[in-house]
Amino acid sequence: MQYLSERESVLNCAREIYESGMVTGTWGNVSVRTETRALMIITPSGMDYSLLEPQDLILLDATGKVVEGSYRPSVETPMHLRIYRQRSDVNAVVHVHSPYAVAYAVARRSIPVILEETAQVVGHEIAVAAYAHCGTQALADNVMQALGSDKKAVLLANHGLVAVGKDMAEALKVCYIVEKTAMIALHASTLGTVQALSDKDIAILNQSFKNYGQKK
Ligand SMILES: [Zn+2]
Repeated sequence: MQYLSERESVLNCAREIYESGMVTGTWGNVSVRTETRALMIITPSGMDYSLLEPQDLILLDATGKVVEGSYRPSVETPMHLRIYRQRSDVNAVVHVHSPYAVAYAVARRSIPVILEETAQVVGHEIAVAAYAHCGTQALADNVMQALGSDKKAVLLANHGLVAVGKDMAEALKVCYIVEKTAMIALHASTLGTVQALSDKDIAILNQSFKNYGQKK
């Protein structure tokens, strides 16, 4: 079996999105780009995350052909493949159905950049991709259009949230921050006008966060 550490990172993330309440049951899906950059590892379709073992994950080539694995890959495989093909900076994709983000996806309203951490970690409003049925190429196309060349997250209309990152830790962090931002924006809106940060402040915060923490 190839790519044990990548398989474990996918499994750990899949368990975490379940345990944190960002998905229920077997919904949501997680993938990582493998070192060769021509392949990805993704969760299987409709299987309980708590029972999954590393060998249950599916290794695919860039065309979506199964290289290793005996189960069917996630129904959202076309979306994951499309993102890796078009975004060379993306090495992990996490798709969740977290409730506050989905509230915005149902209202078909962008989540505004209202927190410093949203500016730092995400750096942009989270827009809503046009509606298409789950698992379709049309959904993959709509998501890619909304993600463009540099966005970290996008809402799927009446469905969920997709976050991307240079690694799994970043993609998962984007999910948490987007969900928290949506929750606070919704609560704040019941108190009055929601004040978003200015584009200038977002750019400054996003840039300065790149130097945050300890120097390597
Ligand atoms: Zn979904």
